[in-house]
Amino acid sequence: MPLSKLASSIPASPTLALNDEARRLRENGEPVVNLGIGEPANAAPPAAIQSASDQLKTGKVKYSPAGGIPALKDAIIRYTKANYGRTVGRKNIVVTQGAKLAIFNVLYTLCNPGDEVIIFAPYWVSYPEIIKMVNAVPVIVKTGDKDFLPEVSEIGRVVNSRTKAIIVNSPNNPSGAVYPSGLIEELVKLCEKRGIYLLCDDIYHKLVFDDCVAVPAYQLSKKGIEETRIIVINGVAKLYGMTGFRIGWTVSSQEIAEVITNIQAQTITCVSPVTQAAAQAALDGDQSVVEDLRLDIQHNRDVLMDEIGSFSKVRCARPKGTFYALIDFRDCFQETGIRSSVELASFLLKKVLVVTVPGDEFGTPGYLRISYAGATEDVLDGIRRIIWALDPAAPRELKIGTKTVVKDWL
Ligand code: PMP
Repeated sequence: MPLSKLASSIPASPTLALNDEARRLRENGEPVVNLGIGEPANAAPPAAIQSASDQLKTGKVKYSPAGGIPALKDAIIRYTKANYGRTVGRKNIVVTQGAKLAIFNVLYTLCNPGDEVIIFAPYWVSYPEIIKMVNAVPVIVKTGDKDFLPEVSEIGRVVNSRTKAIIVNSPNNPSGAVYPSGLIEELVKLCEKRGIYLLCDDIYHKLVFDDCVAVPAYQLSKKGIEETRIIVINGVAKLYGMTGFRIGWTVSSQEIAEVITNIQAQTITCVSPVTQAAAQAALDGDQSVVEDLRLDIQHNRDVLMDEIGSFSKVRCARPKGTFYALIDFRDCFQETGIRSSVELASFLLKKVLVVTVPGDEFGTPGYLRISYAGATEDVLDGIRRIIWALDPAAPRELKIGTKTVVKDWL
């Protein structure tokens, strides 16, 4: 019996194959460095752990409201006021199983079959697939390869009567770009003029470096929460190192929030009250955990950029936020005989035991995404191994763990 055409068309991620291979190598005791992983290494804030374990100890872990427990909604209301300058109510918020489900829920709520959703390349791998899963069509607008910012005139050219939404992710996974205020303002204007929804995926919004600020779209619209086309997506995964707690949320008009709540009631029923209690404590607790993480990651970014700068065959726009850098390796292809970034990623894993993510997954073939969310020594070790593998001027031998690797490919 044939399976659903739509479901079967959702591809497996090549990253998963690389991660499986990395796991196998690590289990065999190989000194693998993982620069592919999209999560900070720090533990969840102590207040979050305490709150979740208090909840567990009651022994009463039951169904909770489909749109989120009131205590977490109230914490999100305070967070929205403090970080976006917007006063919203419980009716505007839906707590979801991670930001990823928040994006699915919003697109499922907005799109009819054949509607178009604009995304910018390089894009987060899941956007095109989620758009397809709700029977909509991803429309990809390329950005400049120096700053990874879209041209508003380009966007204007692809907008038509089927355009339902634009997704903006700033700070951006995978490029590390942060959209300037003027660009966000133009996007808000375009969306308000053409009646298009603007989905702001703000999952990295506080992970910005130097004096950079990720300006929230809400601050650039005069419309009230019930009239605005702006929908905010956020969560605790990246800022608080709570990826496994699976807590995300949406802030939208009441009309949209009600539909999302109904979808959740008929699918997941509710998000676990244990992890909701943890997220509430993280949002209401000591925010220095976020600042400490930001400073650690900024330091890693600096270390990475210094090291990358020593190798003239690669180019990398200095990331302004997130914990990713998107590095252009195309000038290394000819000499090594490598033909694509997928090949390059598996070459680097095989030869120098470093996991990276091929840019093909983000709509930027020839690039690799490097994550610097982990320990500084790992970032440095990983990037040095990569440069050694690709630089014909580097010595022929490199010590990796207890082994000496001899370069026989350049
Ligand atoms: N948006 C972007 C841009 C992301 O990078 C991620 C996680 N990699 C998510 C959303 C999903 O976050 P969550 O873990 O909360 O589902």
